Amino acid sequence: MRVAVLSDVHSNLPALETVLGAVDSAGVEQLWCLGDVVGYGADPDACTTLIRQRCDVCLIGNHDLAVLGELDVSAFSETAREAAGWTAREASAETLEFLRGLVPAMDYAGIGLFHASPRDPIWEYVLSIDQAEAGLDAAVERISLIGHSHISLFFTRPEGGPRRGYAHGAQAGDGALLDIDDGGWLINPGSVGQPRDGDPRAGWLELDLEEWTARFHRVPYDVAAAAGSILAAGLPASLAERLQVGR
Ligand code: ZN
Repeated sequence: MRVAVLSDVHSNLPALETVLGAVDSAGVEQLWCLGDVVGYGADPDACTTLIRQRCDVCLIGNHDLAVLGELDVSAFSETAREAAGWTAREASAETLEFLRGLVPAMDYAGIGLFHASPRDPIWEYVLSIDQAEAGLDAAVERISLIGHSHISLFFTRPEGGPRRGYAHGAQAGDGALLDIDDGGWLINPGSVGQPRDGDPRAGWLELDLEEWTARFHRVPYDVAAAAGSILAAGLPASLAERLQVGR
C-alpha cells in the first residue's frame, strides 16, 4: 500500500489544496493526517472539511486541542494563543465536532502514528538524538510517524545490538528517499501549512509499505494567498510573514 502522510495543515487552504493535487498525481491509496489541522491560519472550516473527506485517518494535535478548550495554552506563544482563540470563535460546529472525535496517537496498518512523539503524543518536539532514542524505546511498532515540529526529518536505529547510542538522523529535503526495510524509524513529513525548516514549500511524505520506502516531497504553493487571508482575518501579521520564509 502507498500512503500520503500529511501533518500540521494549520488552516492553510492554498497549501492543503496544492498538496492534495500532488497527492492525487502520485496516485496513493490512502491519506493519513498527523494532526494540527487548525490553528495559525485563516481557513479552519475548509481545511477540516477537506481532511475529513480525504483522509482515511486523522489524529488530533495540540493546536486542535487548544481550539476545543481541552489544553492549557499557557505554554503557547502569544500569537499561537491568539490564533487558537480566533479559531475557536470562527470555526463551525461541524469542524469542532470532527476534531473532538480524534485522538493524538494510534496504531494503523502496523505503523505507529503520533502527533508529537511516541512517549508524549501531544507536546514533545523530537529534534535531538536523545529524544529520538527515547521515542524509539517507547514505540511498539518498528516505524513511527510523527509531526508537531514542522521539520521534515527522520531518525533511525539499526535492529538488534545495544539499544542506546546507535541512532542517527537528519533533516530531509525535497526528493529525499529512505530505505525503511529494517531498523527502527521515526519519520516526520514536515508541515503542510507552516514549514519551519527554512523551505517555505508545503511538505508531505510518500510511504510505500510494500517496497518499504519513504520519500519526502515539497511543493510550492500560493504563499501570498495564504498570507493575505491571515491578514484579512485580523490574525497576527507575524503568522503571515513566517510563511514567506518557512520559519
Ligand atoms: Zn503544529
